[in-house]
Amino acid sequence: MTRTLSLALLGLAFPLLAQTSSPVAPALYSEAFTPDTMRVDLFHTGGMGQEIFALDRVVNDGPWAGSTTRLVDSLDLGDYRFEVRDRTAGKTLYSRGYSSLYAEWATTSEPRTRHRTFHESLRFPWPKQDVEIRIFSRDKQNAWRLLHALEVSPESIEVNRARYRGPGTVIPILENGSPAQKVDLLILGDGYGAQETAKFRADARRLVDLLFTQEPFKSRKTDFNVRAIELPAPEPGVFRPHGKVHRRTALSTQYGALGLERYLLTYDNRSLRDIASLAPYDFLEILVNDAQYGGGGIYNFQATVSVDTAFASYVFVHEFGHHFAGLGDEYYTSDVSYETGQPDLPEPWAMNITAMKDPKRLKWGDLVEKETPLPTPWPKEEFEKRSREFQAERKKLLAEGAPPAKIDEMFRRQQVEETKRLGTGPHAGKVGAFEGASYEAKGLYRPMADCIMFTRDEVGFCRVCQRAITRVIDEYSRP
Ligand SMILES: [Zn+2]
Repeated sequence: MTRTLSLALLGLAFPLLAQTSSPVAPALYSEAFTPDTMRVDLFHTGGMGQEIFALDRVVNDGPWAGSTTRLVDSLDLGDYRFEVRDRTAGKTLYSRGYSSLYAEWATTSEPRTRHRTFHESLRFPWPKQDVEIRIFSRDKQNAWRLLHALEVSPESIEVNRARYRGPGTVIPILENGSPAQKVDLLILGDGYGAQETAKFRADARRLVDLLFTQEPFKSRKTDFNVRAIELPAPEPGVFRPHGKVHRRTALSTQYGALGLERYLLTYDNRSLRDIASLAPYDFLEILVNDAQYGGGGIYNFQATVSVDTAFASYVFVHEFGHHFAGLGDEYYTSDVSYETGQPDLPEPWAMNITAMKDPKRLKWGDLVEKETPLPTPWPKEEFEKRSREFQAERKKLLAEGAPPAKIDEMFRRQQVEETKRLGTGPHAGKVGAFEGASYEAKGLYRPMADCIMFTRDEVGFCRVCQRAITRVIDEYSRP
C-alpha cells in the first residue's frame, strides 16, 4: 500500500540533514535490498503558490547499477533530495540529490499565472521491507525542507515487479567492470531514422571518445562503463517548434524547452526511464540527430546535445557537467528563461559558483594563491560589450533564417576573441573569484576567468569544476 502524507507535512521546516560519507559493508546492502532497482514515478505539480507530488506508479527498473556501499549521498547537490527510510528502525537506507525540469520551471515567470505538471522518477535499490520516502526541497537560504513523504510496501498490489521489455538494442561501448564499482553512463539516441543506425553508433563513439579527452574524465576513464541504446525513429530529426519542424520520437526530445529556442530536453520522463531501463545506468546522455545548435543538462536527470553542429563537442561536455556534477552555468550574458537580478542571492549549492558573502570562507579558498585578490579583477566591461554584440548578431542571423553553418562561423569568431581576452588578463589561469556567473552580472562569482562552463573556448573544465567532477566519480566508483 502506498499512501501520500504530503498535505500534513507540506511546509514544515526541517534542519539540515546529518551527512555520512562513510561507506557501509556490502552485507548491509543485501540485508536491506534485493539486486533490483525500484523506480517510483511521480507527478510534480505546481504554480500559483502550490507545489505537490502525486504517485504515478512503482516499477522494476532492472538490476541496480549504483554503488552497494555508498548508499547515503555525501555530495549534497541538487534542488531536491530524497531519502529512503526503514520504517521500523527509522534509519536512512539510501539518499540522493537531484534537480528537475520542475525546479527550472519554478524559476521562470510562468508559475505565477498557471499550473504545470512534470513527471519525475526516484530510483533506488529494491527494498526488502516497507519503506518511507521523504522528498526535500531547498528553502530561500538553500537549507533542506521536508516537502513530501510517502510509504511504499514492496508487497503492495500497486507495485509492478516486471521489467520493461520494449524495443531497443543495447550496445557496449566501454566495459571496465561491475556496475556497482563503476560509473555507468548510458547513451540514448533520438531522431535517428531506421537507415541511420551506423550514424548513431559513430556519433556515440565520437562524443564518448571526446569526453575522455577532458580532465578529470581522461585520468579516470577506467572507472567508467559506457553503453548505448539503439532505437530507430520513423524519420530523422526531433520536434523543433521555433523552426516549425514537427516530429513524434521515442524519447520526445525537443528544442524550445521552457520557451528557449536552443534548450533541448525531453519532458517525457516516463518514456525516457522505460527505455533507459534496458541497460544499467547511473547517468544518461541523449544524442539528438539534428544540425541545429542545442543542448541541455539537469543534475542527476538528463543531458542532451544535437550532434551535427560544429560545437557539438563543447555542448556535450558542458551540458554533461550540469548533469553529472551539478555544475552551475558560469556564463551570465546569454538569454535565459530564468528570472534574474534577484537581490541578496543565497550561497548557491553548485560547487563552482559562490555569492562570496565572506572571502575568508570561500568554498574553493584552498585553491587560491595568497597574492590573488578577492574579488579577482578581469576585463569584465570589454567582455560584456562584445558578448552583447555577438548576441545581437546571432539574433539577426536566426531571424533571417541563416543556415546553422553561418551561426557556427560566428561562434568561431567569438571563440577566438574570448579565448584571447580571458587567457591574457592579469589573473588568467589562476583560481580566484571572478564576478559574473550563473546568469547574474553582479553578486555571483566563478572560480577562474575561463572554463567550459563559461564560454565555448577550448579550455576544458576549470580546476574547481574538475574537483567537483572527481568527487562524483569517487562517489560512484570507490569501494
Ligand atoms: Zn568551472
